[in-house]
Amino acid sequence: MGMKSLKVWVSGLIYAAFLRESYALSADAYRFGDDIGSALGRRLSNGASIYFPGNDNFSNATARWSQWGKPNISVVVEVANQWDVAETVKYANEHDVPFIAINGGHGNIKSMENVHQGIEIWLHKLNTVAISDVGDTATFGGGILSHEVIESLWAAGKQTVTGVCDCTGFLGPALGGGHGYLQGRHGLIADNFVSLEVVTADGELRIVTPYGPESELFWAMQGAGHNFGIVTSVTSKIYDVQGEGLWAFERYSYTQDKLEALFDYLNIFGNDGNQRVDVMYWATISHEPDVDPTNPSISIFVLQEGVAAMDPDVSAPFRNLGPVTVNTNSGPYVDISKWTEFNMTSRACRKGGGYIARFPINLKNYNLEAQRTVFDVFAAETLDNPVFGHSNIMLEGYSSQGVRAINEASTAYPHRQDTILVSSVIIFDNATDRAAAEAFGNRMRDIFHDGTGEDEKHVYVNYASGDEPLETIYGYDWWRHIKLSELKKKYDPHNRFRYYAPIPVAGL
Ligand SMILES: Cc1cc2nc3c(=O)[nH]c(=O)nc-3n(C[C@H](O)[C@H](O)[C@H](O)COP(=O)(O)OP(=O)(O)OC[C@H]3O[C@@H](n4cnc5c(N)ncnc54)[C@H](O)[C@@H]3O)c2cc1C
Repeated sequence: MGMKSLKVWVSGLIYAAFLRESYALSADAYRFGDDIGSALGRRLSNGASIYFPGNDNFSNATARWSQWGKPNISVVVEVANQWDVAETVKYANEHDVPFIAINGGHGNIKSMENVHQGIEIWLHKLNTVAISDVGDTATFGGGILSHEVIESLWAAGKQTVTGVCDCTGFLGPALGGGHGYLQGRHGLIADNFVSLEVVTADGELRIVTPYGPESELFWAMQGAGHNFGIVTSVTSKIYDVQGEGLWAFERYSYTQDKLEALFDYLNIFGNDGNQRVDVMYWATISHEPDVDPTNPSISIFVLQEGVAAMDPDVSAPFRNLGPVTVNTNSGPYVDISKWTEFNMTSRACRKGGGYIARFPINLKNYNLEAQRTVFDVFAAETLDNPVFGHSNIMLEGYSSQGVRAINEASTAYPHRQDTILVSSVIIFDNATDRAAAEAFGNRMRDIFHDGTGEDEKHVYVNYASGDEPLETIYGYDWWRHIKLSELKKKYDPHNRFRYYAPIPVAGL
């Protein structure tokens, strides 16, 4: 027996001793039919661990941003390398047990609730960063978080497209496309993939590149990736930080009487999809008693790249609308998450609360009548039904040149011409309010949709609530569905990856 396999075998025995005790704690664990601790433990590397309910690490690994979309987990496998991922997938398949990879714990699509007594493959230890010698690409571990990407690149004078929230995974957003502040320059997160190392449903480790035998899988990973495998590492394009990497920021809060004027201006600002590449915004409609004690109000973060103070021609139109409050800030790119309250200590990164469900729709511009109707519905419903009082409507307007520059057929991400991401975000505490929350969220989404005047309804997969028809998420082109279903048949014929906006397997 070689040294490595001896170590693995010994570590398996240690796991077995430890886990046999933990095993008794979990009724769920009987489902596995053998002692998963020893049987799987001896197949894993020294750095891997297995946790059962009752253990603090189990609680950390399974804590969720939202109870909506929470998978039911019986065992957590904390993997330390790609082979641990592959072995766990094989083990789960041998025992016909569901498994799901978890990274940032922020996914909240209802289909994740279809994991019953599953194995969680906890990816957080796969968080390495290696910048290439030339400095134009970096390889990230599959369990890295957004802030780890941002900060490690920043230290080297580099950056790339990431999501805007520090604590989401880098790959959770990326596999559905991935929107962020730098997309106007460089496209979606997935547009920057150079190659991926992926454990597919059969437990095989594959290198997936745009040219070569897995090129179709590469296409699928750029927008429908959650359905096809577990990414253990990704090599992505990275870019030099320009100048000092400064950004300026202003946040304005308005009372509801400014609604039409603000969204009318945002249509001008959006410039029919040609919004300036260096400016972007993120708005919310919510109850902010300091701004208006009676009605919901509107707040908007406006960001400008490359300046120490916002240009007056960017800020003046917002200031001229008469906001109740204005906050300003400026500094390096890495500080943006603090200003926007998406940093690690923010509410957006807190786990363990109640239900948060999103009902998203993409827009190209705002229909002012629909905006007002939605506002009124939001105001009335949150007044009549205070359990939804912390809900909000999120409206994100990132610049989009980099996204639209890419041929839409060249990736699985289908909605490149949409420039505004809108989500009605319904927040509540009790499961008994789920049906009412869905009715509320869907009602607002329907109003937004009617306002587009289009038959097609476009939904960003990473914001989906979980009940949306597949074409709204993966596109209305028939060839996309055939291609995705055929790829499922090829790479995941038993539909093991069926928990995130699941795509049917052709012929099943
Ligand atoms: C506060 C907040 C801010 C957000 N900001 C943005 C944003 O700026 N841009 C944006 O595009 N989206 C954003 N999103 C949406 C985000 O893309 C999704 O919620 C995404 O699912 C989160 O991924 P995660 O790793 O944090 O979650 P998890 O719950 O850990 O994972 C979600 C899904 O991704 C899969 N997954 C995760 N890692 C891997 C991997 N390495 N290989 C294969 N599958 C994997 C999981 O199996 C699961 O199905 C935000 C969400 C929240 C809650």
